[in-house]
Amino acid sequence: EQTAALGTFNGTGTTSDGHLVPLLANVGSGKDARAAAAAGAEGVGLLRTEFCFLDRETEPSGEEQASAYREVFDAFPGRKVVVRTLDAGADKPLPFLTDASEPNPALGVRGYRTGTVSPGVLTRQLQAIARAAADTEAEVWVMAPMISTAAEAKSFGEMCLAEGLDQPGVMVEVPSAALTSEAILQHVGFASLGTNDLTQYTMAADRQLGQLATLNDSWQPAVLQLIKLTVAGAESAAAGTAEAKPVGVCGEAAADPALAVVLVGLGVQTLSMSARSLPTVAAVLASVTRTEAQELAALALAAPTADLGRTAVRERLPILE
Ligand code: PEP
Ligand code: MG
Repeated sequence: EQTAALGTFNGTGTTSDGHLVPLLANVGSGKDARAAAAAGAEGVGLLRTEFCFLDRETEPSGEEQASAYREVFDAFPGRKVVVRTLDAGADKPLPFLTDASEPNPALGVRGYRTGTVSPGVLTRQLQAIARAAADTEAEVWVMAPMISTAAEAKSFGEMCLAEGLDQPGVMVEVPSAALTSEAILQHVGFASLGTNDLTQYTMAADRQLGQLATLNDSWQPAVLQLIKLTVAGAESAAAGTAEAKPVGVCGEAAADPALAVVLVGLGVQTLSMSARSLPTVAAVLASVTRTEAQELAALALAAPTADLGRTAVRERLPILE
């Protein structure tokens, strides 16, 4: 019976008391997007555009880009699709953007920062996204990876608006962005926590080194504190304005069902993950009330270690036994 409960997803993420938590998919191609739609994803929370062009030696043309993005949009008519601008560098080098000689690529010119050395690439990408968005029924949002300051968020927001993309947001995956989310969200409409990088940078532990897996764990209370601060900053930024400033998670943490409950308890509004994780996350979420999720979040935050937090929360989720 339990396997059945964990094996289905009816297309609406919700806690047992009816608090809606849209469950979205992380995709890297039109093919992924169609599979995600078939699995019941409510939209796309992260389109990793660099995945469309990983093997390219040269910048893809505007038309090639637009057609790759259009394929994803077409899988989600009437639904939200969050396009992330190129996140080149470190674990995702792109030959036409990445300087392979950097001594510390994870701390180098990667993500949004590539726009400072090659501003044309970002502009042309935004134009291609806008072109693809113009002839689709998907609701297209755009976000920048590796934002570190409010000034960067402001510049990115302005660039998007100049191309007619009216839903700009940022990824929060650098601790400085988590700590200044209120200032950042004065300039853009939403934030998406990239917990893979946020964990790597908070713990100073390379996400690619299995040896450091104990440190590189999104259950680390320090990471959860930064997530809580990000949400609090977003609430302050939204207070007194008519706009909501939603905060989602699109890192692997969202695919860990017990951690997904904790994230909802911390005030995260949407969860985006690989499509195969949707059924289990949906089932575990549906086994708790929002208040219970908040209690479990408090437990994880107060835990002395990542492992103890994970164990304490899992013990209180009988569906996972
Ligand atoms: C993240 O860092 O959590 C994220 C979603 O982005 P990526 O894994 O592509 O760096
Ligand atoms: Mg990242």
